[in-house]
Amino acid sequence: MRKRSVLIVLISLVVTALQAQSLYNEDALMANLKFLSSDSLQGRKTGTPENAVARAFVQKQFKQLGLLPFDTGYDFPFEFDSRTGEKIKGVNVAGWIKGKKDSYIVISAHYDHVGVRNDKIYNGADDNASGTSALFAIAEYFSKHKPEHNIIIVAFDAEEMGLRGASAFVANPPVAVEKILVNLNMDMVARADKGELVACGTFYYPQLKPYLEGISSEKVKLVFGHDDPEKYKGQDNWTFSSDHGPFHRVKIPFVYFGVEDHKDYHQPTDDFELVNPDIYKECVRLIIQAASRIDKGLK
Ligand SMILES: [Zn+2]
Repeated sequence: MRKRSVLIVLISLVVTALQAQSLYNEDALMANLKFLSSDSLQGRKTGTPENAVARAFVQKQFKQLGLLPFDTGYDFPFEFDSRTGEKIKGVNVAGWIKGKKDSYIVISAHYDHVGVRNDKIYNGADDNASGTSALFAIAEYFSKHKPEHNIIIVAFDAEEMGLRGASAFVANPPVAVEKILVNLNMDMVARADKGELVACGTFYYPQLKPYLEGISSEKVKLVFGHDDPEKYKGQDNWTFSSDHGPFHRVKIPFVYFGVEDHKDYHQPTDDFELVNPDIYKECVRLIIQAASRIDKGLK
């Protein structure tokens, strides 16, 4: 190769790298993940003071990122009976970004986790500090790149107690339910240890698949599955495994982004230190690209 063409190749590589990086603030992504999964938050169990600290942090981020509050503000409290019959209070946090069309895309992740058990803190770095921190990155992206549709960014509470926050949101949404076109849900999006991030849901909603095809990168492949009940049974079927479930129940199309279960799933070892920053950042890039394509593509 001649010197000049080598130079051109180098420049285009640098430009591509810069474009990839500029989708969102990667340092903030890691710092937010670190804070949300730190011991000080004691595993963010619904109803605890530390869960309230996590919620206040989410709300502060939403404000700083320029998300609009709804008429009642960012907080959406709800109440439910636990399995033992005790009344538990949870709070979802939601804000939105104005688009050009009068319909909504709901992008979600749960911020609660399971707390402390037998004196061990379950920090839930992957589950689901990773999705919560990614939510901020996506909010940042759509604040800077005006979307076609209105985007609702919501951090759900009480997922670990049976998808309670998402169920409350769908039962009592801040906008007319028929204006919600799709739910993009994230739960465990950091530990793509084998280089695969799963997009679940296209078995039910094949119209969404074309937007998700071809955005894989060298580091992380976006793969499909865990939805078709013929192929995936029991725990292996993720149709109702997280907060997209209540949306699917009322026939709102969804894509759920998540990684395969790993040895630290729902263990006290699901820690920040075990997250590979390069892989996590790449997963978030892929999800932002997917969300952007879906926003541009949907009528
Ligand atoms: Zn989870």
